[in-house]
Amino acid sequence: MEHDQIFDLLVIGGGINGTAIARDAAGRGLSVMLVEQNDLASGTSSKSTKLIHGGLRYLEFYDFKLVREALIEREVLLNAAPHIIWPLRFVLPYHDGLRPKWLIRLGLFLYDHLGGRKILPPTKSLDLSADPAGAPLREEFTTGYEYSDCWVEDARLVVLNAMDAKQKGAVIAPRTTCVSAKRGGGAWEVTLEGQSAGIVKAKVLINAAGPWVRKVIDDVVREGEQAKIRLVKGSHIVLDKLYDHDRCYIFQNADGRIFFAIPYERDFTLIGTTDEDFHGAPGPIEIDDAEVDYLLASAGAYFRRPLKKEMLRWSYAGVRSLYDDGAGKAQAATREYVLKLEGAAGTPQILSVFGGKLTTSRKLAEEAVAKIGSLFPQLKPAWTRNAKLPGGMDYSAVENYVTAAKKRYSFLKPQEIERLFYTYGSRMEQILGDARFAVDLGKRFGPVWEREIDYLKANEWAQTSEDILWRRTKLGLHMSDAEITALKIYLGELKPARKKKQT
Ligand code: FAD
Repeated sequence: MEHDQIFDLLVIGGGINGTAIARDAAGRGLSVMLVEQNDLASGTSSKSTKLIHGGLRYLEFYDFKLVREALIEREVLLNAAPHIIWPLRFVLPYHDGLRPKWLIRLGLFLYDHLGGRKILPPTKSLDLSADPAGAPLREEFTTGYEYSDCWVEDARLVVLNAMDAKQKGAVIAPRTTCVSAKRGGGAWEVTLEGQSAGIVKAKVLINAAGPWVRKVIDDVVREGEQAKIRLVKGSHIVLDKLYDHDRCYIFQNADGRIFFAIPYERDFTLIGTTDEDFHGAPGPIEIDDAEVDYLLASAGAYFRRPLKKEMLRWSYAGVRSLYDDGAGKAQAATREYVLKLEGAAGTPQILSVFGGKLTTSRKLAEEAVAKIGSLFPQLKPAWTRNAKLPGGMDYSAVENYVTAAKKRYSFLKPQEIERLFYTYGSRMEQILGDARFAVDLGKRFGPVWEREIDYLKANEWAQTSEDILWRRTKLGLHMSDAEITALKIYLGELKPARKKKQT
């Protein structure tokens, strides 16, 4: 690929921060190209706990600014994409190892009132000996508290940002690695390898490479910011469903570490996360046995049911890059993001992103674009605060929409409509279109039809079965080996088995 055009921005990294910046900038009139070395969201942004949350525990570190900003973002995002973000109630069972009750109540009061809560219900106390939330827990947990935060389909949030960026003119290039960037002739000359290989020019580089941010500085740009980053690994396990209600639990161990047990994909419970310093090279990482044991033992101290390794259905691990503020424990390191703009006056600039959360990604993007704003006189005002993401609508419109969709596509089961809505929102209509019978949707691979697969390939940059089963959706958890094989054959990853000749 040889572009004559000089892009205003070249964004390195197709995680949440890179795609959110690309979306914001494209919507403000800048020309943008985004490159991602693998699939979109293949880095940290698909390995999170999947919460849009203020971060109750950050109150302990007096991170009020971070918590307030994140709390405000909850409802902003809920109204932008209620198909992939929805309210969740969190149950905090009380025990003697926790802070005194008055302090917890004060923390929850602050959490309720620090910022922007209009839709989400407030905190309340719980009698766990009577409330169904107490039933799966050991007998000693008799009281607790319940408060609000939100769930997010993390990898889909990334893809929706990329889709919106593309709709506003950005070039999105997955499976394309930025291998070098040099200043020359008033712009960056950037060498790309992979599916969109070539040389491109850009006025500003955005280094949104997540855990690779330091590598991009050292090996791709080879100059600049000496800031230290701290890599912290977190792992999750997915077990067969542990309980039937729709609330999640937040538990705090005696060592102060917090973890969650969350209803996941209808049939499962997600438990995580661990939090430990990571010293390896960023790349695909896996949970280790000690972390599985830690999570099982920690959750086992709360649930009545014995938890065993055999209940494990899936696991994943991710690494976050935090700006190193010299904090002692990994869980105390700041979660605030830091944006560093570098380059002598009159030379092409580079903006590096350190840290950040899914929750604050829209805000981070707004600030990142504002930071380079003086370089682009044509920059339009910030716009994302009240904008929808693809398939999105007001949160208040969801119920009516889903009810109407169930009527319109009555040939599908209500549960199938719900799955499609809580994946694609109103874009489900682009998949179902004028179909009147299930056969109109093409070949079936267990819970998914050909039309959905084709939609993902045509609109969401899905190329492999892994992209489809583990990032665009989590259908991998629900499909049999035979169904996955049939899908791989459809995608051309496997050849169909030859039929034996009849003799
Ligand atoms: P990534 O998602 O890692 O994206 C960077 C991308 O850059 C990668 O995809 C990588 O392939 C690409 N890249 C790197 N180098 C190059 C190159 N040279 N050329 C092209 N592409 C390149 N936040 C929340 O709000 N809520 C949560 O519940 C939550 N839970 C978390 C749990 C865990 C265990 C972890 C680790 C994080 C969690 N976070 C959470 C934080 C959040 O997930 C991360 O802050 C966020 O995903 C980081 O996004 P990113 O875009 O910076 O990085």
